[in-house]
Amino acid sequence: MHLLLAEDEQSAGEYLVKGLTENGFVVDWVQDGVDAVLQAQTVAYDLIVLDVGLPGLDGWSVLKRIRQTRPTPVLFLTARDRVEDRVHGLELGADDYLVKPYAFSELLARVRVLLRRGKPQELDLLTLADLEVHLLRRRVERAGQRIDLTAKEYALLLLFLRRQGEVLSRTLIAEQVWDMNFDSDTNVVEVAIRRLRGKIDEPFDTPLIHTVRGFGYVMELRA
Ligand code: CA
Repeated sequence: MHLLLAEDEQSAGEYLVKGLTENGFVVDWVQDGVDAVLQAQTVAYDLIVLDVGLPGLDGWSVLKRIRQTRPTPVLFLTARDRVEDRVHGLELGADDYLVKPYAFSELLARVRVLLRRGKPQELDLLTLADLEVHLLRRRVERAGQRIDLTAKEYALLLLFLRRQGEVLSRTLIAEQVWDMNFDSDTNVVEVAIRRLRGKIDEPFDTPLIHTVRGFGYVMELRA
């Protein structure tokens, strides 16, 4: 099992690399948020252990960017036992967390649980009806036809597919895909969704993206 560890503290990082290696894991260690994103986008890790307080790019931003392209399980480490931090991490798509200081045995146990939970087929394929996204190849197909998307359209599609059946507000979409703030102009979201619909819905019989008036959008197969 190949893990990415993003932890800026030297002694904590060395300790974790040693402990995880002794338990049979192959560990890549980075100490900076920018490196963490690069590594996570380059290598198909089985799991990422992510410290929230990182230089370069904080752990939340790292998590958001990883989630735009990959469903790799993420265990985050937070120094503060604040409920809002834990909720925020889980909302951004993390799978579990530990509050520092933690016992190594607990970290190891949680890593093992997450790895067992991860279903291998989900690491490469997201589907809805006849729409398929092959994550490792970044290939999108509908009814067997290849569809070319821009990077933003692709990120938008992954967000919809991972949260299919869930109504997503324009604000949430703007935050997740564009890293934009709450009060930003969400017109950009509407434009991108129109383009995405033009590619994945309009050429086909059954629309998958639906507008929920006054709130946002949902991706689902409707009878
Ligand atoms: Ca730190």
